[in-house]
Amino acid sequence: MKEESKIKLNNLLVSNLLKIAFATADTVFFKKILFPVIEKGIRSAIDRVPGPVTWPGVLEDKYYMLRSMAYSSLKLGLSSRFATTVVNKAILSDLRMKKEIEFRTKFGFDPPGFMVISPAKRCNLRCRGCYANSASEKDQLDYKIFTRVIEEMREFWGARFVTVSGGEPMMYRWNGKGILDIYKEHPDSLFLMYTNGTMINDKVARKFYDLGNITPAISVEGMQTVTEQRRGKGVFEKITRAMEILKKNHVLFGVSITVTKDNAEEIVSDEFIDYYFDKLGAGYAWVFHYMPIGRDIDPDLIPTPDQRVMLWEKSWDIVKNRKIMFVDFWNHGPVSDGCVSAGRPGGYFYIDWQAKVYPCVFFPYAATTMNQIYDNGGNLNDLINLPLYSRIRDWQFKYWKEGDLLRPCPIRDHYRMAKKFVVETSAMPSDEGTAEIIKDPVYEKKMDKYDRELAKKTTPIWEDIYKHGNRR
Ligand code: SF4
Repeated sequence: MKEESKIKLNNLLVSNLLKIAFATADTVFFKKILFPVIEKGIRSAIDRVPGPVTWPGVLEDKYYMLRSMAYSSLKLGLSSRFATTVVNKAILSDLRMKKEIEFRTKFGFDPPGFMVISPAKRCNLRCRGCYANSASEKDQLDYKIFTRVIEEMREFWGARFVTVSGGEPMMYRWNGKGILDIYKEHPDSLFLMYTNGTMINDKVARKFYDLGNITPAISVEGMQTVTEQRRGKGVFEKITRAMEILKKNHVLFGVSITVTKDNAEEIVSDEFIDYYFDKLGAGYAWVFHYMPIGRDIDPDLIPTPDQRVMLWEKSWDIVKNRKIMFVDFWNHGPVSDGCVSAGRPGGYFYIDWQAKVYPCVFFPYAATTMNQIYDNGGNLNDLINLPLYSRIRDWQFKYWKEGDLLRPCPIRDHYRMAKKFVVETSAMPSDEGTAEIIKDPVYEKKMDKYDRELAKKTTPIWEDIYKHGNRR
């Protein structure tokens, strides 16, 4: 059988198996009989397609993360429409397979897998230290560009997963259209929306359910005290209410957490996990370590190297033993084969409200804007070989062979090198703050010191547990 037919048959089998699993997730049949089959399927999928980094500890991490993903989504009883979007369109996609071949022929590697788009800077909250404190209608992404990018991802990359970030995406308005119009116009794409949750009511949740292609990730900082210290009084109650409404309406939702040196212990505590996952029914967590970029930055808020190792240990405990999809964007570098920025295979680009295109949300230097690309008659593929992105990708490909994936981030964990890429390609800063810090020797010294201290902590773990496969 030809490879293409084999993949098609495999996708069909897995898709039907997952649909049966979604329908029977609460039954003894599922727990006793079906789940062991799914676990075996995950193992064999990783063995068949291990990815570019194949150290034993890396494959173990991938297995446990995929298993937690399966458990998390199945136990929540997703709407069948959402399940179909996830399974048939975002995970198992014949379209993707076809486009991978076309893209590979042209560029020599596989296409990016998703995009992150922040359509509006504006927000209805005034959180401490957040850039998105403008209520202005300016600083919004042109709807035509927004929707065209999603179409072109599909057309050129076979990619149908879009992360929508902010500001507050629910505040986005362009000529009478809002974010829900985008979701409606692209029914075969899957949208993960980072939101503060305060604009989610019954009507909105019902709409999410009906559309069947959105999962909101609501921002929290920890329990009530810590969350309200940053987000303002009364916000915790609104967030809790939004989660209850989403659960009642069978909309899969998660939490997104910015971890600093002050809340690192709290967000991996039993109290936190019990509350958001067991009580409120969150299906996943995305953890982002505080990144000192933009205005009012404080590098001392970055979780310390010791905290980073603590978060690595605790997060894997949550993933493996509680079977919760708890993704720590930096510490779980082995799951994604490291940095996913700059349009690497399966990775992404980030577009902000000014249509500037960055390698990543946390890498605030852009090579171009989508306006420039489209005004010159180009398309999304014209991003691929711009020098800033190529430099980062060359580094990523090399890093797959020789790097420590517990320190995957060019801009955070290898700051001096990232700075070189920015300066040498004359990349555009996102704002005045980022224009300043790239020239700031004190900032550079702090980041470099952090990088060296972190390496001392993670390299022994990488060698022992990941490369040699010793048990943790
Ligand atoms: S640049 Fe850093 S934050 Fe961005 S994808 Fe790469 S590792 Fe993650």
